[in-house]
Amino acid sequence: MMTKQNPSTIVWLQGLTCNGNSHSFFNYEKLEVFSKNFHILHHPQINTQYSLHDVLESDFSFDFLVIEGALSKNPSILSRFEIPFTKIVDNLEKRARYIICAGSCASFGGIFRLNNPEEITGAVFNGKKQGGYWSEQKKNVINISGCPMHPEWFVQTLFTLRNSSNILLDEYKRPKEIFSYFVHHGCLRNEYFEWKVDCKDFGLKEGCLFYEHGCQGPMTHANCNKILWNKTSSKTRVGSACLGCTEFDFPKHALYETHKNMSLPATPFGISKRAYYSLAGIAKSFKIERLEKRLIDENN
Ligand code: SF4
Ligand code: SF4
Repeated sequence: MMTKQNPSTIVWLQGLTCNGNSHSFFNYEKLEVFSKNFHILHHPQINTQYSLHDVLESDFSFDFLVIEGALSKNPSILSRFEIPFTKIVDNLEKRARYIICAGSCASFGGIFRLNNPEEITGAVFNGKKQGGYWSEQKKNVINISGCPMHPEWFVQTLFTLRNSSNILLDEYKRPKEIFSYFVHHGCLRNEYFEWKVDCKDFGLKEGCLFYEHGCQGPMTHANCNKILWNKTSSKTRVGSACLGCTEFDFPKHALYETHKNMSLPATPFGISKRAYYSLAGIAKSFKIERLEKRLIDENN
């Protein structure tokens, strides 16, 4: 007979954050299923069993410490209830089985880091560099980057860890099951990308957003066109560029413009410049009438 597993326990901590990852999680479609399997002991945004003070004054261990937001060791940048954040993190990290960095700020430092990369970082990365809040590569840290992270990525990772400790991570400590894909995979505009047909404007169904509109789908590790947002759509599906929000260098500047070198865009991840530009030149030389037309309404 199968024995019933107790719910796994979570303490959620917020550093420098806009709360976006919490809100993304609150939009998870099957929160009732989640709450049968996980018990949130503390979350600063919702009524939970314990306050932060209660948790800090106790000594129980728990399964997941979720960190949302960038971190800083400087108490004038980050403290809670006049307690330096270092004291809070140092108290909690020892008691957690896993540390889950929810979103790109906790993973890499994100937008907050841009102002002060010396003092504001992710948990184990400072942008691309290893060594953030913790200088050593802690084995039990898992990054779920994204601005915000997709709620399915978060829940899928927690369920995987709840049921088995075996999770494969990439070089940035992100679950490979999610981050081996590129946003480009599954994008409905792939045919336009292949034949180098540009999107004429944001919001249109036709054309690829890579050439003029800043799409970073071919360089961005995430499965947004496989696990859709709200089970419905993605940025590129609605005619907006992928901004590369899961990567260590997010946000770059001028997000809706394609950055070019000698009028050529960057090459897709892992493809040699020479090969790409030769193929692109050939593809562009064909004019495919079907791809130049509107898909649905010729008059609009
Ligand atoms: S819009 Fe972006 S993700 Fe879609 S095909 Fe073009 S480059 Fe790839
Ligand atoms: S499409 Fe790109 S910018 Fe949008 S959520 Fe996915 S990875 Fe982030």
